[in-house]
Amino acid sequence: MVSLKSKKPLIISGPCSAETPEQLMSTCDELAQTGVVDILRAGIWKPRTRPGTFEGNGEEGLKWFADVKSKVNLPIATEVATSKHVELALKYGVDLLWIGARTTVNPFSVQDIADALRGVDVPVLIKNPMHPDIDLWQGAVQRIEAVGIKDIGLIHRGFSVYGSSQYRNNPQWHIAIEMRRRMGDMPMICDPSHICGNREFLLEISQKSADMNFDGLIVESHISPSDAWSDASQQLTPEDLKALLKSIIWRKQNDNSPKYLQALETLRSQIDGIDSELLEIISKRMSVASKIGEIKKDNNVAILQTGRWSEILDKMSKQAEKHNLSAELVTKILDAIHVESINIQNNIMNKKG
Ligand code: PEP
Ligand code: MN
Repeated sequence: MVSLKSKKPLIISGPCSAETPEQLMSTCDELAQTGVVDILRAGIWKPRTRPGTFEGNGEEGLKWFADVKSKVNLPIATEVATSKHVELALKYGVDLLWIGARTTVNPFSVQDIADALRGVDVPVLIKNPMHPDIDLWQGAVQRIEAVGIKDIGLIHRGFSVYGSSQYRNNPQWHIAIEMRRRMGDMPMICDPSHICGNREFLLEISQKSADMNFDGLIVESHISPSDAWSDASQQLTPEDLKALLKSIIWRKQNDNSPKYLQALETLRSQIDGIDSELLEIISKRMSVASKIGEIKKDNNVAILQTGRWSEILDKMSKQAEKHNLSAELVTKILDAIHVESINIQNNIMNKKG
């Protein structure tokens, strides 16, 4: 029986879609021979953006996948989007199910899947929803937990973007980090294939997830990527997958050597001190903003002064460079502080009496 915590890093790989018995068998056979893959993946039902494109082979594909499992002797995983998919996947011996990003967004679908999983003992991975709604992601986990599934994990596959950008799906790592914080020690694996949408940045994204202590990877691979019927530009040959995995440096979760622990403790106490100072300084700034609110009120002047605000942003972006800080970070921090100052001044302006 597969267990999501049985190995770290857990490596899942296989084609985006099971296209033909030959494509599935040859890809999986070569993957097994690399010796670096723990679980095979293949899409059986494909949620495609537009009708008229390849939507998977359904039950027929499951028969091929079951055949692969018995030949190459590795556990198999597929995406389920309905209760019917769950029933069929289990019938053909699929060892691990995942809920795709287009399904996580829909509580009706997730509940339908959950109902089919009641009383079943199978590990389930839940991808983040297409758009950055962390509560929806957490809600999906809760629905699956509520029917008694014990072995649950998360997949970070990035979030939809409108228009062109470096990645097919923006990683927005902070959302994945917050999700890990909320879900305690629930394993989280990264799907660099669907984040990147191409092969170019797979290593960079995979390494970043390893640096952030993710528990594994799900990567698409195909015997002949350029001929793939779906996601051709992001799949790797089994050989390239092996090379990718060999290049990733997986970090230790921790180190118990006294030298490391002492150095870490010293630096952490510095950070704690600096964080307190930051709060004191922000609080000081807010008291000055309140005083400005009072004099604006006395003189009946509007709160938002865009000229002054642009001046601050310009000046601080230049200073950011001198301090080796990115203009993006400084703008984000100032934005948050500015919004709070406006709220404070608004309260003062509209205070009765
Ligand atoms: C997939 O893994 O093939 C897939 C459809 O992914 P996602 O749900 O992340 O788009
Ligand atoms: Mn895919």
